[in-house]
Amino acid sequence: MSYKPTIGLEIHAELKTASKMFCSCKNDQNETRPNVNVCPVCMGHPGTLPVINKQAVKNVIKMGLAVGGKIADFTEWDRKNYFYPDIPKGYQITQYKYPLVSGGQIDGIEITRIHLEEDTAKSTHDTGGRSLVDFNRSGLPLMELVTEPVIHNGKDAVLFAKDLQRLLRYLEAGDANMEKGQMRVEANISVSKTDTFGTKTEVKNLNSFKSVEKAIDYEIKRQIKLLDSGEKVIQETRGWDDAKGETYLQRVKESSHDYRYFPDPDLPKMMISEIPEFSADNLSKEIPELPWAKRERLMKDFDLKEVDADLFLDFSEFFVYFEQICYELGNDKKLSKIALNYLITDYLSLLKKSNTNSADIAENINKISVTNFAKLVKMISGAVVSSRGAKDTLKIMFEKGGEDSDPEVIAKENGFIQTHDEGEIEKTVAKIISENEKVVAEYKSGKESVLQFLIGQGMKATKGSANPEILMKIFKKLL
Ligand code: ADP
Ligand code: ZN
Ligand code: MG
Repeated sequence: MSYKPTIGLEIHAELKTASKMFCSCKNDQNETRPNVNVCPVCMGHPGTLPVINKQAVKNVIKMGLAVGGKIADFTEWDRKNYFYPDIPKGYQITQYKYPLVSGGQIDGIEITRIHLEEDTAKSTHDTGGRSLVDFNRSGLPLMELVTEPVIHNGKDAVLFAKDLQRLLRYLEAGDANMEKGQMRVEANISVSKTDTFGTKTEVKNLNSFKSVEKAIDYEIKRQIKLLDSGEKVIQETRGWDDAKGETYLQRVKESSHDYRYFPDPDLPKMMISEIPEFSADNLSKEIPELPWAKRERLMKDFDLKEVDADLFLDFSEFFVYFEQICYELGNDKKLSKIALNYLITDYLSLLKKSNTNSADIAENINKISVTNFAKLVKMISGAVVSSRGAKDTLKIMFEKGGEDSDPEVIAKENGFIQTHDEGEIEKTVAKIISENEKVVAEYKSGKESVLQFLIGQGMKATKGSANPEILMKIFKKLL
């Protein structure tokens, strides 16, 4: 019998708010100068008092509503006690017994809970053996989401994390950029041959979707290998070394009673259901179309594959551009489909080649106007240009940009217009036949494959402008 892997995720996301979780310092996740947004509260000075940020609470409630979870009636704040330089108070304010949200699901994966807490400061260790602490991050509102152990491979874990990221962005609850540490994924992994779960390990430091998938798959293999050789999996926290593609031991796992959780006496308990600002009825109105609903709509309305729908989900400017082209094309299904093909292959690669990041790409998306793009689509559909000619036209349109990118002018100037004039084509064919006596003889003696060579000669002679079907038809006629 083979091993069945089990995975549960714990995902932290920094929330988008004007100020920090318990003080009025700016929540600026792009600040690069250290220790700029700090005050006695978020530096953990004794005698200071925390004040709850309502926007952060609203963000988490909206997340809860979007995933179909239960919003707590009653909630409180707890102190999680531990010693570390990045938490000088000696405890982190979090929610232990009464999370804001319980239950819910994304992509069929059940969510255990979503709660709110404060982020810690950020430690960096320099080459001189010194450790530096930056408190800009200390006290940022941080959401933690925990899933049930119901995932079975790295790929599904990534699909979940990607949709969670989309949701955070759609609700404007957080930017959730993994490279910036705004969304941090921890994966709990175990394997077992029976219905009883095996001992799990927890993998941290996963700062890209790729590492999430690779680390999970690596850890599954490592555990199976251990068990197969008669050894045991030890419950521990492991890191991910991206360069080596391996997990490594960080520390033997602490358990929750080590933290001596207790309700924070400095903060009020909250009866969520009695606070009008937090009412589900009011907050539901602020929830836009959810990413998975939009995905389904796009797939249905535009006959898209899931990957293409996801591309549009993540790149809304590109979708708007596509929608405008469809509108320009009278929302014709066939024409929209052609537009889609040229957009997601040719146009996107042109945009990617000349722009280094996604912000630049978004900014340059209108380099070819919607009108000119739609015009090219009509030329392709009407066989005015061949697909090769269309690609070349598009490239020049992109180089010229703006008003100069009229596809008709460009295709004419560069000889990309397909010739349908049979008389014209017949002259070319006759000339090729007379110049290629040997090949013609071969064709006549039954070697039909040489016809492709002759058609090639015809395309060459017309610089690719002859319609290939007409060319073939006339060759057959004259031979
Ligand atoms: P702990 O007390 O060690 O933190 P929890 O029960 O709080 O464990 O679960 C933490 C995360 O680990 C959750 O996402 C949960 O789904 C997952 N998890 C729990 N048990 C297992 C297991 N045996 N294998 C894989 N994941 C697990
Ligand atoms: Zn502060
Ligand atoms: Mg736990």
